[in-house]
Amino acid sequence: MKGTAELPYKILVGLEVHVQLKTRTKLFSRSSTAFGAAPNTQTSPVDIGLPGSLPVMNRHAYELALRTAAALNCEIPAYTKWDRKQYFYPDLPKGYQISQYDLPMSREGWLEISDPKGAFEPKRVRIIRAHLEEDAGKSMHDEAAGKADSRIDLNRAGTPLLEIVTYPDLSSPQEAKAFLTELKLLLSYLDVSDCNMEEGSLRVDANVNLHVPTAAGEIATPLVEVKNMNSFRSVERALAYEAQRQYEVWRETGKTKADVPKQTRGWDDQAQVTRGQRHKEESSDYRYFPDPDLCPVIATTEQVEEVRRNLGELPAALRSRLEAEYAVTRYDADVMVNQGRPLAAYFEELARGCGDGKQAGNWIQQDVLRTLKETGAAIEAFPIPAARLAELLKAVQQGQLDNARARIVFGEMLTGGLSTGEAMQKLGIEKVESTELEELCRELLDQNPRIVADVKGGKEKAVGALIGQARKKNPNVNPNDVRAKCLELIAAE
Ligand code: MN
Repeated sequence: MKGTAELPYKILVGLEVHVQLKTRTKLFSRSSTAFGAAPNTQTSPVDIGLPGSLPVMNRHAYELALRTAAALNCEIPAYTKWDRKQYFYPDLPKGYQISQYDLPMSREGWLEISDPKGAFEPKRVRIIRAHLEEDAGKSMHDEAAGKADSRIDLNRAGTPLLEIVTYPDLSSPQEAKAFLTELKLLLSYLDVSDCNMEEGSLRVDANVNLHVPTAAGEIATPLVEVKNMNSFRSVERALAYEAQRQYEVWRETGKTKADVPKQTRGWDDQAQVTRGQRHKEESSDYRYFPDPDLCPVIATTEQVEEVRRNLGELPAALRSRLEAEYAVTRYDADVMVNQGRPLAAYFEELARGCGDGKQAGNWIQQDVLRTLKETGAAIEAFPIPAARLAELLKAVQQGQLDNARARIVFGEMLTGGLSTGEAMQKLGIEKVESTELEELCRELLDQNPRIVADVKGGKEKAVGALIGQARKKNPNVNPNDVRAKCLELIAAE
């Protein structure tokens, strides 16, 4: 892909991420939030806006939002309230969404992104705000067996969402994807959301426009909000497409941000294009006003401090600690941390057990992760406990096994539930004693005078031919030991 540095414009992207919080019940009612139930079976009078019903805030949803806001380094004001955002749509039976307008529960935070491969410089992406709101229902168009009808499912109505809004600090599609990946990781470490895009528990809209340098100064292209992106990869593609489209439209029409109101475009994943949808409402069109049915929420300083204290170790801090404590590279620390907290914990136990972080990191990346990928299992269900794998790695360090034979033992431990020693015994693999090794090497040298002559003549590589023969005689020998011993014996002759 073409680097952004070569582009004749700067891309400015701000993201709006809606995260479904992991609560059993809705934000203002006791209906279940479980995914996949039959339509309209998880609704209450509050969710569907029956007159006389009254909302009551789900305290757990607010606590999860507080944790997330704190982890995003946000200011958390002492006082927050609820507002009604009015609009008409069939999936919104109350005629308004309960959201937060001028006094959101958190604001002015940041999340740092970086790329271990160096595609962009590490940067802090500033967060404008994160506020709580309820989800709407779902319109299902033409989904019923090809009939041209529309139906409404209100199961989602009232589900708690945290809307996280960033400043336009992202300067490329890659940075936008990196932000989303890091945010998702953070949310999983905090255990506040399932982040399942297919089930709609993480939804992304992107505001994008360009700054183009011209002879008369820099111009800004009209602002576009891109919707309907159903994976991080489609966010990346949609932004790359949209940036180029805006550049071409500007070259054709010369129209700038001052000439055109903000537009909404939808990403068409099949055609890989964005398509115009509608001109976006201004916030004044929503006629926000405080919801008279709900009390404001007060967060005491002690409460906020306690939340900040109990966030646990978050991905950025964990990466730095793994680098410092186990002497792994930034890249390795990234791989371990990005797989989630349980894998990072497995790595730490393995590294402590075998005493070599680099070796532990290599085995996890090459063997453990590959196995997990093949079986589709999670690390929690991995058949070799870290302490057992550490024994195997120690056996490699002590020269009892070379890596190739250690992999065979690893395979046996995977299926057999055996310790390293038991698996080696079962496979007939044992350490070759040094006297045994010397005897074997002497025998080989006697049988191969030409190789001996070659080595003496300076062709040290010739000794390689003996390794295959050695392994035929005794499959347990370590190739490096055979090479070293043979060279030693020849030199001593
Ligand atoms: Mn929203």
